[in-house]
Amino acid sequence: MAWFKKVRKPIEPQAKKESRVPEGLWVKCPSCGEVIYNKDLAATLSVCPKCGHHFRIGAIERLRTLFDSEWVEYDIDLRSTDPLTFVDTKPYRKRLESTIASTGMKDAVVCATGSIEGIETSVAAMEYTFIGGSMGVVVGEKITRAIERAIARRLPVVIVASSGGARMMEGALSLMQMAKISGALARLDRARLPYVSVLTDPTTGGVTASFAMLGDVNIAEPKALIGFAGPRVIEQTIRQKLPDGFQRSEFLLDHGMLDMVVDRREMKATIARVLRFGLRSAHGTAAIALPAEQPEPAER
Ligand SMILES: [Zn+2]
Repeated sequence: MAWFKKVRKPIEPQAKKESRVPEGLWVKCPSCGEVIYNKDLAATLSVCPKCGHHFRIGAIERLRTLFDSEWVEYDIDLRSTDPLTFVDTKPYRKRLESTIASTGMKDAVVCATGSIEGIETSVAAMEYTFIGGSMGVVVGEKITRAIERAIARRLPVVIVASSGGARMMEGALSLMQMAKISGALARLDRARLPYVSVLTDPTTGGVTASFAMLGDVNIAEPKALIGFAGPRVIEQTIRQKLPDGFQRSEFLLDHGMLDMVVDRREMKATIARVLRFGLRSAHGTAAIALPAEQPEPAER
């Protein structure tokens, strides 16, 4: 029975081959499998040139796709105080510290003013890599301030949502942000200033249930996951199988939940068109001074 006692030589570890391609130069599209050169992907605003798959992008990259040039960022140093001294798999305070260190941001939203095709705009862009883009007290406060800043300076507002919803580590305090932001948006509406909501993959939970669906115009990126509760929870509750494409942008557009589904490469031009249209009051006079070189919007 020699083969029972056969001594197996451990497999020699392979000598590490030097890769000639530096790490991270190429990205594989998860939708069509195309291998894309990083620089090409940056040129197409992180949209797959072959199939149009929209890669997720961060808040700073988002601002770069929207603003004409430089922007002014506000409330950079606001950070959560961990009011509930919350602990799950690790203390929330520790989680915050490590996320701040890895992302270089203090919380999950970047608020800035800058111009979009010459129109000065207050923009808030959410950062999904910061604890799932979750909305805690800081996100709520920063977005509210961005809206109030817009009211004070008579600017339109654009909020780019990318979020898993409310931040459970701040409990009820994070739920209160829904009402706080919605209240500020109501004041913006009374000041007759337009608000464009941009919904990107993913926009779920308390963010969908508040400001992301309150835009004068709600625009989504293609195939973005947008919903309140997850599909499994809904199936268990209503005891029905959900249709294909449920909770994706195109499905929501078909069912009247969105106004437009717009390719990221067309997003800036579309937002600018909507803002130009919205900045005119019902009497046909501009609510604020528009840049002269912009063409007049077609009256509908
Ligand atoms: Zn692709």
